Amino acid sequence: MPVEVRVDRGRCRGLGLCSGMAPEHFRVTSNGYSVPLVPVVRPPDDVALVQDVARCCPMEAVEVTGVEHPVAGEAGR
Ligand code: SF4
Repeated sequence: MPVEVRVDRGRCRGLGLCSGMAPEHFRVTSNGYSVPLVPVVRPPDDVALVQDVARCCPMEAVEVTGVEHPVAGEAGR
């Protein structure tokens, strides 16, 4: 199932662990917050990686959730 990746700016401190672990998925911008580069990650590609990043973020700012309304034909992938 695809997962959605978000960064809570209220929690993010711009420490850069996420972009260090997964530079293809996160970038710390000049305003000091991380932004997800791939908002929806589809398995098997990197779902485990973004979940690891969420577990490792010291501010618990990375949210990885199931996509509530997958595009038709994507459910169960
Ligand atoms: S690891 Fe967490 S706190 Fe650090 S930049 Fe990434 S989202 Fe922000």
